[in-house]
Amino acid sequence: MSLKLTISTLLEILPEAEWAGAHRPEEVLHLVYTDTRKIRNAKDAVFVALAGLQNDGAQYVPAAYDLGVRTFIVRRVPKEILPDAQYILVKDTLEALACIAQWNRSQFKGTLVAISGRIGKTTVKEWMYHFLSPELLVTRSPKSYNSQLGIILSLLEMNTRAEVAIIEVKPHVELNATYINELLQPDVAILTASDGVQSLFPDSYYESLFKGAKYLLHLSVRRSFDHFLGIKMRVEALSTAALPFRASTEAQLYNAALALQAAELIGGTRIPIQEKLQSLPELALRMDTFEGIKGNYIINDLYNLDEEALSNALEFQKSVAQQKERIVILNTEGLSAVQLDHYRKIIQSYGIQRLVELPNEHFQAQQVEHSVILIKGKRSPQVNRVVNQFKLKKHLTHVRIDLKAMRKNILSHKKFIAPETKMLLMIKASGYGSEIDKMVQFTQSFGIHYYGVAFVDEGIAIRQTGSQIPVMVMNAEPGNYEACIEWNLEPAIYDFNQLDDFISECIYQGIENYPVHIKLDTGMHRLGFDDKQLEQLISVLKAQPEIRVKSVYSHLVEAENWYDKRFSEHQILTFKKAVNKLVAELGYSFDTHIQNSSGIVQFKDINCSMVRLGIGMYGISPMPAIQPMLEPVLEWYSTISQIKTIEKGQTVGYNRSYVAPRVMRTATIPVGYADGLRRSLSNQVGSLFVHGKECPIVGKVCMDMVMIDVTDVVCAVGDEVEIIGPHQTLEAMAKKMCTIPYEVMTSIAPRVHRLYVEK
Ligand SMILES: *Cc1c(COP(=O)(O)O)cnc(C)c1O
Repeated sequence: MSLKLTISTLLEILPEAEWAGAHRPEEVLHLVYTDTRKIRNAKDAVFVALAGLQNDGAQYVPAAYDLGVRTFIVRRVPKEILPDAQYILVKDTLEALACIAQWNRSQFKGTLVAISGRIGKTTVKEWMYHFLSPELLVTRSPKSYNSQLGIILSLLEMNTRAEVAIIEVKPHVELNATYINELLQPDVAILTASDGVQSLFPDSYYESLFKGAKYLLHLSVRRSFDHFLGIKMRVEALSTAALPFRASTEAQLYNAALALQAAELIGGTRIPIQEKLQSLPELALRMDTFEGIKGNYIINDLYNLDEEALSNALEFQKSVAQQKERIVILNTEGLSAVQLDHYRKIIQSYGIQRLVELPNEHFQAQQVEHSVILIKGKRSPQVNRVVNQFKLKKHLTHVRIDLKAMRKNILSHKKFIAPETKMLLMIKASGYGSEIDKMVQFTQSFGIHYYGVAFVDEGIAIRQTGSQIPVMVMNAEPGNYEACIEWNLEPAIYDFNQLDDFISECIYQGIENYPVHIKLDTGMHRLGFDDKQLEQLISVLKAQPEIRVKSVYSHLVEAENWYDKRFSEHQILTFKKAVNKLVAELGYSFDTHIQNSSGIVQFKDINCSMVRLGIGMYGISPMPAIQPMLEPVLEWYSTISQIKTIEKGQTVGYNRSYVAPRVMRTATIPVGYADGLRRSLSNQVGSLFVHGKECPIVGKVCMDMVMIDVTDVVCAVGDEVEIIGPHQTLEAMAKKMCTIPYEVMTSIAPRVHRLYVEK
């Protein structure tokens, strides 16, 4: 967003605006904020104090001021006029915001596309983008806002230099004020695949949204749009064969057709449309599905509950179920009566067999069978219980993560650093094999300043937990920069190409001062700028206001080598020299960090402002100085499925590689190399533990199963089997697999259920 709106113009476009405080009519505004938590760049920004249901936005003015904002749109002159602040007084701050949006809309000379309808808006938007870009300069509304404010914010964020702007508009339960709807004035309007069998929104609603449009693309046979003045185009679904992937719902075939037609309409012969259809990306539905007990199929979609997500999920359920019974379990907590009523209507419009409303209704997973069950609504203990009831049988093999031990390990590492030193938690490979969201919920409660992740996806997963803690992404790629910015993730920059690409994205989006992290190579020879590139790096950084260095870091090659620290010391020295140079040249300060878990213990007084804790939080460290203060976090268990008596000379498992030397008893355990139990552990190389007794693996480890020798152990079907735990540490297991603990942790398959316990 970059408005380029002078204060004097602003005063002209706002009805009956007055003035208080400082007076700077020539100042140019670039950014508008309504939420202090989103303020990234306070210079040239205006804060609009919107009145909420419970509070008056004016109470956030001091916070915005502290962040550096000096221009405010408010309803009343504040009691205390802050130094240097200019206040623009209006009757209605929402209306004022709408006026600014309208002004920005009038600056846009390209084609504005508005997409509405209950489901598939994001899909149509992304597919249109795929068709039209890069031949045309396309800007998309970053997200589909969920409120009245949505249309306004989308218009405010629109890059007016683009040739095409695509905006998603959510139909809203409390029908928007007409004056807001009519702000859009789209050139092309699209109504996506389904607005339900029963219309939930009257035609007049869409007509006001789409007012002024030259074209309206839609499919619904039912709709008439009598009062629509432009050209109505009814689009037929694409055939299944036209798509380069298998469509999972019928709506996809319609949405692809809409995107294609709209793109043809706008791009004409400028775009190779057929060619692009061949590479149409399959936009994945983000739903967790699994086969549960009693032939049930569970769609566990707890992401967010809004109309679009709900309709998408219902659509998906319908396509999976075919003739099977469909049950929806809805967690109604946190829903208003109006919302609940509205959601019930949507659910019923899909003709499901049963709706269960938690927490008021009682539900037992055992009572249903061969059904397709959609679980929707926010997470709660009841919802988790239902999900787990369905899972029960599937998760005989599970990993236990001891959160208390993890807390202790983090605090133990904190003892080695100065109180003011910040801590970044490295959550790599989905938290070294554990579910990222649980980890985030837990760790952010005790003073973590940063998260570090390997890829943008993992960063998004952190944001989806609701966490606002800054996130550094180590391998952000050009295709991901937009998502990176959208989700407020901070990329690590390690070479000039990447630096250029990221700056271009910021220029394109009109962003300044976007936080980035500079990676220096001080000896790993993996990623990073080296000494010789420093001059050029500094000149680029100085010249580009789009980005701002939030931290500079490097990585130690052998921090755990406590008997020879020379190479690490050399790295630290090289790092410090480069940092000093950067500080002197850039003229502002930033965080510095080079210590990983071992580095925290080994190098105490090197004065970096942050450290990066990784494997140490799992209680693993080669450093004698900290070992006694750590506790193991991860345990891995399974259960005995069957016990057999084998005669002397009979063989066990594939290829008959194990021959029983005597009469023996074996137990079959449902864990195999597909779960991360290496095949190289076959035939007595590895062992598991039953009731604390070592039981060697006999025969080859299979894909999903393994057999162990339980001749000398009293045990029965259903007994617990320890793979990693008190008798077999992660380190010991790593040794047997001829690798390091990092690899063992990260190779436990995602299908292995994770249980989080606070012992
Ligand atoms: C993995 C990683 C860490 C964490 O290392 P540990 O040895 O697990 O503490 C820190 N920084 C970077 C750049 C990493 O890749």
